[in-house]
Amino acid sequence: MYDVIVIGGGAAGCMAALAAGERGASVLLLERNPKLGRKLYITGKGRCNLTNDCTAPEVLAQTPRNGRFLTSAVTRFPPEAVKAYFTTLGVPLKTERGGRVFPRSDRAADVIDALLRGLRRAGVEIIQDRVLSLRLEEGRAVGAVGERGSYSCKAVILASGGASYPLTGSTGDGYALAAAAGHTVQPPRPSLVPLEAVEPFCAQMQGLSLRNVAVKVRNGRGKVIFGEQGELLFTHFGLSGPLILSASAHMREFAEDSYQIAIDLKPALDEQTLDRRLVRELAEQSARHFGHVLERLAPRLLIPVLAELSGIPLDLRAGEVSKVQRRRLLTVLKGLEIHIAGPRPLEEAIVTAGGVTVSEVNPSTMASKKTAGLYFAGELLDVDAYTGGFNLQIAWSTGRAAGLAAAAACSAQ
Ligand SMILES: Cc1cc2nc3c(=O)[nH]c(=O)nc-3n(C[C@H](O)[C@H](O)[C@H](O)COP(=O)(O)OP(=O)(O)OC[C@H]3O[C@@H](n4cnc5c(N)ncnc54)[C@H](O)[C@@H]3O)c2cc1C
Repeated sequence: MYDVIVIGGGAAGCMAALAAGERGASVLLLERNPKLGRKLYITGKGRCNLTNDCTAPEVLAQTPRNGRFLTSAVTRFPPEAVKAYFTTLGVPLKTERGGRVFPRSDRAADVIDALLRGLRRAGVEIIQDRVLSLRLEEGRAVGAVGERGSYSCKAVILASGGASYPLTGSTGDGYALAAAAGHTVQPPRPSLVPLEAVEPFCAQMQGLSLRNVAVKVRNGRGKVIFGEQGELLFTHFGLSGPLILSASAHMREFAEDSYQIAIDLKPALDEQTLDRRLVRELAEQSARHFGHVLERLAPRLLIPVLAELSGIPLDLRAGEVSKVQRRRLLTVLKGLEIHIAGPRPLEEAIVTAGGVTVSEVNPSTMASKKTAGLYFAGELLDVDAYTGGFNLQIAWSTGRAAGLAAAAACSAQ
């Protein structure tokens, strides 16, 4: 018989177990994988962008879905406290562009090792088991049943994550467990996800990465819903890369809306300056093929696409390019248009949007309003944020809130 059972040894579950253990509760952490934190291990390209150097209100502003629900949890365990916590756990940190906080070692493994040390120190027992169902008695959560055993407790914290990158263990088990405890689950959807393009020319440029481009995303009504500068990647299905993942988080109604992306390939030059440059390049190399002129303006894989979209044969002499053709090229360079067919599947998303309906969860304690003794933490909840360390910050804050509240409830019993 434990005070608290935590289901899921990811970011939220580890933090919840730590908080409960540090408060003196006897804690069992059930994780289906042989090792904790498999998803944490691949975060931030193996460097783990564990939070963002910003204030609690800024975290909420970066959380488009149900940010307000997090007010209490994030205010009580804000980025500042997360940084102090990990520093004390023995992980020196550094801050990079955009406030992104990483371990100074650039190793996500250091974050996981530190969590493990903390869990041991707090006396948390860890058992490898996949939970199949919750034990519910008279409207109370009193334990969990796994593939290998049945466990009893006074409080259960469900922190089994979303359903993206399922090879890490996050296969969406928690949705059925929550539903069986009386919760409504908002359909899981991909967010921070690569995008499939209608135009086949993206596949032609597969592997091409563009570092300093600006994108504008318009919805079906022509309204600009996202605009930023950064790096994107063409793939066999369409578009990926940091800029596209961020853009995807703003496309929240794929089913009803058709989105369109315009890529400014030359954001440092306004139209007039770029046009003057085109005039000059075409005049200076008037006897050469148009394709050669483009080589000075764009990467190799982009050249046939630019030529086709602006309707200029690659073997036309530069001096014979008409003003109309040059203006078309200018338009393409300043706004290469791509229509979005939809997101890549949920499995390929960085985070899962949707999940346990937040109005059924107490925002201060993460306690279920449907089943006594049940708490939630992390991505399983219907909250998701933009990139920059905010999703892990949410996991830490909700994990800590759930762990503290569950421990307090046990000691009061
Ligand atoms: C490639 C990638 C990179 C990312 N990079 C960043 C980043 O740099 N910064 C950032 O803020 N966010 C990042 N994220 C998002 C972030 O990793 C997640 O939001 C966060 O890990 C969610 O934490 P969680 O504890 O709720 O869920 P998870 O980390 O998914 O943990 C859930 C755990 O529960 C276990 N589990 C599931 N079902 C069961 C069961 N039935 N029984 C027992 N155990 C179970 C799983 O094995 C897993 O270990 C990234 C995500 C991906 C996929």
